Amino acid sequence: MIFRSNQGTNLHLLKENNGINIKPYTSGRITCHVASTPSVINGGHVIFKIRDGFGSILPVAVYQPTGLTKIASMLIIGDRIEVGYGSHLKSNNQITLNLEYLIIKELVKVYNIRNPTCEKCSKNMKSEGKNKGYQCYICKTRIRNGVKIKTEKNRKLKSGLYIPEPIAHRHLTKPSSRYGMEKRFNSIEIKYLLKSTKWIKDSGGLI
Ligand SMILES: [Zn+2]
Repeated sequence: MIFRSNQGTNLHLLKENNGINIKPYTSGRITCHVASTPSVINGGHVIFKIRDGFGSILPVAVYQPTGLTKIASMLIIGDRIEVGYGSHLKSNNQITLNLEYLIIKELVKVYNIRNPTCEKCSKNMKSEGKNKGYQCYICKTRIRNGVKIKTEKNRKLKSGLYIPEPIAHRHLTKPSSRYGMEKRFNSIEIKYLLKSTKWIKDSGGLI
């Protein structure tokens, strides 16, 4: 007899949820924005807050064994992400999302802002005060209407999918080797399977 298994499929994370609908001890995924600067707590775990499209704010915990704490700590407020989670209830009755995977969808642009450069000395000039222009501290050249120079900072973080180290995988966690190899059913199979099992329906035919 052949059994069809949902092990290693991320089946528990397929359901997209809003923050307000997340019940304790459930799993799913949520599309959201980073709403607080990630902080490292005892044990090397990383905590940050997310905000969904409806204004719900929830804490996310990234545990050290997942190997994703470094990536998580580089997120900044405004980054658009998707989080696969298992929800837990903390002692203060606060639902916390334990991160099971992270998709970075869009990184906020960050800029370095500096004073204009002296044409003769190639050094950054000194501001003379608001709207008073800039002066070179070496050759004393003054410019009246110089503007600050804005350059985009390298975030050193790439968009895309980040999954935990194999040691932190739960039995349902989809390993990286299965990504892109998902079984797709044809429509006759889907109709048959929808009648026979509920979990196939929940997965939308993607196992
Ligand atoms: Zn100069």
